[in-house]
Amino acid sequence: MATPTVTTTSPPPAASTNGTTEPASASPGPQSPDSPITSSPLPYTVTLIPGDGIGPEVIDATVQVLEATGLSFVWERHDAGAEVISKYGTPLPDQVVTSILKNRLALKGPIATPIGTGFTSVNVTLRKRLGLYANVRPARCLPGIKTPFPDVDVVVIRENSEDLYSGIEHVVVPGVVESLKIITEVASTRIARYAFEYATANGRKKVTAAHKANIMKLSDGLFLECCKKVAREYPDIEYQEVIVDNACMQLVTKPQQFDVMVMENLYGDIVSDLVSGLVGGLGVTGSANIGPDATMYEAVHGSAPDIAGKGLANPTAVLMSAIMMLRDLNETEAADRIEKAILSVFRAGKHVTRDLGGNATTAEYVKAVIGKMGT
Ligand code: NAD
Repeated sequence: MATPTVTTTSPPPAASTNGTTEPASASPGPQSPDSPITSSPLPYTVTLIPGDGIGPEVIDATVQVLEATGLSFVWERHDAGAEVISKYGTPLPDQVVTSILKNRLALKGPIATPIGTGFTSVNVTLRKRLGLYANVRPARCLPGIKTPFPDVDVVVIRENSEDLYSGIEHVVVPGVVESLKIITEVASTRIARYAFEYATANGRKKVTAAHKANIMKLSDGLFLECCKKVAREYPDIEYQEVIVDNACMQLVTKPQQFDVMVMENLYGDIVSDLVSGLVGGLGVTGSANIGPDATMYEAVHGSAPDIAGKGLANPTAVLMSAIMMLRDLNETEAADRIEKAILSVFRAGKHVTRDLGGNATTAEYVKAVIGKMGT
């Protein structure tokens, strides 16, 4: 089969918030890799957040596929987002955070954020409250999916805790607004180290830091200094720096030159969507939000209100996130079975969803994937 998208998202050691190192683990801990899939002694307790729009459709599809592996899961289902405000007075009730911290594992659907008004993004708040400092977003060309380039294989490592996503904004005087970009040495060093550890653990050869330090000399300058400093500790990994606008142009002309890319929060958000577009779109790219206390797996995409409730959503992105979760749990065989089945369905091309040029519904695609898992 093809090389896995991600071997693991938990490169030991992961840097903690206080700059020390500690192992990144996900409860209940890895099983022996050779334990039979059909008789897992542990149910994995996972916090499940279906989310908004297509969220419940793609999460339910993923749960069906995960259960078809024969592994045993306990799903602690929690709602978050606009719909729960009337019940709990907040879009992010405390029990959601408590459940994730207890289980240390969450599988999440997209949650919509009101534009220009309303509550603060639940996604950003969750990442902050859980200390999920690293967002790993792999994108790789898959068989059977038409893409502008045949051999893209890029992992965007996005800093998840600060930058312009600090949400510190105020009106200075009417007509003038200030939005603060926070960049710290601790968070920049931590994400740079994560990127190099990830590259090492996953056999990657190069880390590219994308920045705008030519303009934001202090903030992006600090980020870059931290990346440079960490890079010196990893002489076997090639290190490169690219100004982010040039990085975007290079990505859409010569994407093969990139391997692992590390960047601040906003650039990471934008560039990872761009990279998704290079490999088939948002319907196929998964991600993991990593912290010392928990890991939350979710698609890169949003709630896709344009196709919600129509049974058209492609659940592959959440499935890819679930595969990342299984690999972090050392459930390699189950992860490989799902990935192999997805690739086989893509290669055959009969049961792919509309975003990939087919006409299968979510349910038809899931049935085809599960059908291939047994073979
Ligand atoms: P989006 O990702 O929801 O949709 C962009 C386009 O991609 C749409 O055309 C959509 O139909 C398509 N698409 C996305 N996922 C797909 C899938 N699985 N299968 C098939 N097609 C898919 O982006 P948007 O429209 O900018 O955002 C909608 C909402 O989602 C906003 O409220 C935004 O804040 C939120 N959002 C949440 C997250 C998250 O929860 N992590 C991430 C991004 C956006």
